[in-house]
Amino acid sequence: MKDECSTCHQITELETGFWWGTGYISYGLAVIISALNVVWFTPIFHWATIYSVWGFLFANAAVLAISMPWLVRFSRVFYLSFFVQYDSSFNK
Ligand SMILES: [Zn+2]
Repeated sequence: MKDECSTCHQITELETGFWWGTGYISYGLAVIISALNVVWFTPIFHWATIYSVWGFLFANAAVLAISMPWLVRFSRVFYLSFFVQYDSSFNK
């Protein structure tokens, strides 16, 4: 992540250790993604055998690993939006 916005020069790390809070955001998003994985996994594999449980764990880990670059960036932007508000009157 850049140190500041290239357009308005808003700094992105507001204080030392600011990004610790993004761990909670990305954790919550990972739980939501895992729940969505259960939704698509259940009608296909029905949790019939222990292998389907292992299959789900593998598939869920793969989906989370693939979505990780998006997940960490989105969680940072989402967390930053709690503290920095959009200013429509800002001129470059
Ligand atoms: Zn900006």
